[in-house]
Amino acid sequence: MLRQSTPNTPSGIEFGPWHDYSQCLPRVPPGSGMQLAQATLRRRLKHNLGLVLFQTGLYRRFFRDQAVVVLFHRVDDRYPTDPLTCTARKFAAFCDFFARYFTVVPLSELVRRVAEGRSVGGLLSVTFDDGYRDNSDTAAGILKQQGLPACFFVATDLIGSSQVAWWDAAQRIESRWMSWDDLRGLVAAGFEVGSHTVHHEDLGRMRGAMAYREMAESKRRLEAELSRPITLFSYPYGGAAHLHDSNRELARQVGYHCCLSAHGGLVPRGTDPFHMQRTPISHWQLSPYQFGFEAALESLRDGHHVAPRVSKDEDVGRSPALAQPDAQASA
Ligand SMILES: [Zn+2]
Repeated sequence: MLRQSTPNTPSGIEFGPWHDYSQCLPRVPPGSGMQLAQATLRRRLKHNLGLVLFQTGLYRRFFRDQAVVVLFHRVDDRYPTDPLTCTARKFAAFCDFFARYFTVVPLSELVRRVAEGRSVGGLLSVTFDDGYRDNSDTAAGILKQQGLPACFFVATDLIGSSQVAWWDAAQRIESRWMSWDDLRGLVAAGFEVGSHTVHHEDLGRMRGAMAYREMAESKRRLEAELSRPITLFSYPYGGAAHLHDSNRELARQVGYHCCLSAHGGLVPRGTDPFHMQRTPISHWQLSPYQFGFEAALESLRDGHHVAPRVSKDEDVGRSPALAQPDAQASA
């Protein structure tokens, strides 16, 4: 069984010079444009402010009644600049940070607390979308080392397939998906699995029977393959426009207990579980402390919807309608 981490518990893993990130923060490249230079400096500043906020304990005031759900996609050292990819080292550093400063709980427990209107202060849940093979090959081992729970949302048609996702093709990356045995291994290790539709469909454009089928058939297949009830759902692309309200209602009828987006924002007490926000982790966040500082700022915005930022969002970067190059330099 995976234990829950407790806040401020040393993880036992030493990151040495990496942990303070002094060596990984980028220098402003000589001759770079003004926009890139400013964005780099801004991220370094956020990292430094995050260090102060977390190492002094001040951060607790920002998360007294709000939880955080973080979203990863791929953990793979081969694509360090891909917006959906984290290197293993960076992922381990994030896990260390989560265990140190938050109480990391299984997503199902957070959903239960949210539904019951209970306190969610200081809680954090880790999630993954899509079903990349490195989730079981790489990420699961790092999570286990830290004793952290996580939920893996998968599009069932991608599992065990050799399909190349269009957003990977655009980056010249070969998509590698988990097999059903990989997923069964994750479940056996105590991790949770949720649905992300069958075909990774944009549920903002789909209605009625087709949308119902995407949600119901993925649930049925996961339950048949994994021999357990599947109640957690995250919708593909994750933007505010990628889930029509009628489909949110369908998700409830299909038997899910929650609906997770991917365009930023925290989870304050009293949130509707069918409107749960997640914070994507991407190459935008240079360090966990930058992430922590940005999450603390987010907590001051009422904890509700915050406009997405192109550089970190799954939805904006991948939406067929809104596809545009990742804006590395945007702040
Ligand atoms: Zn997805």
